Amino acid sequence: MKFATKLIHSGQTIDPRTGALGMPIYQTSTFRQQSVDNFGKYDYARSDNPSREALEEAVAELEGGTRGFAFASGMAAISSTLLIFSPGDHLVVCDDVYGGAYRVLTGIFARLGITSTFVDATSLEAIEGAIRPETKGIYLETPSNPLLKVTDLAAVARLARARNIITLVDNTFMTPYLQRPLELGCDIVLHSGTKFMNGHSDVICGFAVVKDADLGQRIRFIQNGFGAILGPQDSFLTMRGLKTLKIRMDQSQQSAMAIVEWLSRQEQVTRIHYPGCPEHPGHAVHMTQADGPGAVFSFELDSFETTRRLLEGARYSAFAVSLGGVESILSYPARMSHAAVPPEERLRKGITDTLVRLSVGLEDPDDLIADLAAAFDRRS
Ligand SMILES: *Cc1c(COP(=O)(O)O)cnc(C)c1O
Repeated sequence: MKFATKLIHSGQTIDPRTGALGMPIYQTSTFRQQSVDNFGKYDYARSDNPSREALEEAVAELEGGTRGFAFASGMAAISSTLLIFSPGDHLVVCDDVYGGAYRVLTGIFARLGITSTFVDATSLEAIEGAIRPETKGIYLETPSNPLLKVTDLAAVARLARARNIITLVDNTFMTPYLQRPLELGCDIVLHSGTKFMNGHSDVICGFAVVKDADLGQRIRFIQNGFGAILGPQDSFLTMRGLKTLKIRMDQSQQSAMAIVEWLSRQEQVTRIHYPGCPEHPGHAVHMTQADGPGAVFSFELDSFETTRRLLEGARYSAFAVSLGGVESILSYPARMSHAAVPPEERLRKGITDTLVRLSVGLEDPDDLIADLAAAFDRRS
């Protein structure tokens, strides 16, 4: 099955009871049992719900895994999965990791004795150099947020495997349509399903996917025990959104390339971070491990005034947190996704006050370009 077909036919897509095209919303907390000796497959909806299960099976199949788990948010997926680690364990983490992940790692997991070292994950030597005897996990995002830095996933997975270290990859920006870390040897794929996977800016959800059966059992135990599960209504909506992932991603990516090309000719734009650009330092590695550059990029402007004018003046690109929706979204990492990172730490990472991120939606790219041009020209 090719990816487009998998999107439509992965998981339980037909209701076994009625033949309905699509798993219904099983809005129930519990299930009636027939026998005192043997409970049915479903007993309580925190453990299993057919609507959630259909989505979990689909996501597992799309990522090339054996088990998928749906959570109430991307952060619930990330935090729940990190509970596979124990006090004393150490993690090596990419230094421009999603702000929320930075917050739980430094503010919660560190207190529980699970410590992290943040490194420039574009450098294999930096990752290797940060590994200690107690290192149990390497946590990556590629391309990373918001500077779109690229990590060689197969190379890190090899390095980790030789030391019995688990590699975790947040694949939110790429989705399994463009990049499948499990196929590159990584162990756990994480997602904010809120973004491209659902794609309609109307659900908060998250996923973890694994190939290894033992890891699958450990995460299953945590998902059921910790209980940060995705509800049936949101599972249904996400399943619906997921079916159009390929055509959404194809169109948004194509528009992103056109907008990047236009931005590169604007005098107010001093730098563009997009793995699709041949001059991007991670371009070559990215194109060996992913099938496209994606629909998110960031760029630096010549002044704070221009930055403000763009963020407040764009009409079609909503000035908002988040990405991966049908609507284009302009965001301001310094005060949004990375607001939780201390200012000096943020600047050290290159997340300046003139850096803007654009997630390209499904509007006509000509309109998006005209809108950006008008916002640049508008005088306050
Ligand atoms: C949004 C996001 C998250 C967090 O997901 P939520 O669904 O908002 O909890 C994690 N990682 C990345 C890369 C994200 O963009």
